[in-house]
Amino acid sequence: MRRPVIVVHGGAWHIAKAELEANIAGCRAAALTGWERLLSGAGALDAVEAAVRVLEDDPSYDAGRGSYLNRLGQVQLDAIVMDGQTLDFGAVAAVERVRHPISLARLVMAQCAHSFVVGPGAEALAEHLGMELCDPADLMGKQDAGSWAPPLPTEVSDTVAARPGDTVGAVALDLAGHLAVATSTGGTPDKWPGRVGDSPLVGCGAYADDAAGAAAATGSGESLMRIVTSKTAVDLMAAGHSAQAAADLVLARLWDRVRGYGGVIVIDPAGTIGLAHNTPNLAYAYVTRGGGVVAGAEASPISTPGRAAGLAAVMV
Ligand code: ASP
Repeated sequence: MRRPVIVVHGGAWHIAKAELEANIAGCRAAALTGWERLLSGAGALDAVEAAVRVLEDDPSYDAGRGSYLNRLGQVQLDAIVMDGQTLDFGAVAAVERVRHPISLARLVMAQCAHSFVVGPGAEALAEHLGMELCDPADLMGKQDAGSWAPPLPTEVSDTVAARPGDTVGAVALDLAGHLAVATSTGGTPDKWPGRVGDSPLVGCGAYADDAAGAAAATGSGESLMRIVTSKTAVDLMAAGHSAQAAADLVLARLWDRVRGYGGVIVIDPAGTIGLAHNTPNLAYAYVTRGGGVVAGAEASPISTPGRAAGLAAVMV
């Protein structure tokens, strides 16, 4: 009998010991939320949106509430959702007054002639489509506006390439056999206002195709964009690689070609999971065949950055 599958991540980076538990717990809660939706017959799109909303509400992550501030002390959010059945997607970037960017991305996909809308135009569209805007202060969690101080004058390239963060993502396979992916982020800390990374870009931060698989990426956006990370992972599965091999190979390419750091979660059309990262940690959770949740953020056993850590492929 077909069983649904969901995998979520809470970012590939160096998670401080004190934050590990909260990062893992949030992923567990999000995976369970998505899994329950899937079990009740909801589509993969509903499941990934629901899972990512849980993570956007959790200030442990760099998505929704709790996102990093940019150089002007503002939260600017990016998100994408993609439907593996139709290859349709909706994306938003640099929105400042949207509590759940992933739901605005979904609205763009479902109700708009456009696929990708940014900035004040995206916020106006949200209102036009009946979504209530929030106060930007509601999104501050990690740093609040009061404690924010202008960053030291360093080069833009120093800050944006410096370190990955705790972006969130989810991939799911529903009972009807359809795949979907969702990614949401506040981007990198101290980013230049208007900077957008890989996360909301189709093929970079996310890709889903029922015929080949689904992938969500996290890490240094400037590197992940250069190898079109998520589409590359899906293409590797289309070429016959297992989900785990696709995850490992795309991480190897990220390092070999652009010396990038990050992580990826993937599933193939049968629901086999692959996870890989070349950062010290990747927070993740997935639900097994019996409904048990597996969650972790294990320190990478690797010493060479180019070798993806990964787990063995897991059949669920
Ligand atoms: N990839 C995200 C970005 O560059 C950051 C992250 O994954 O944490 O915006």
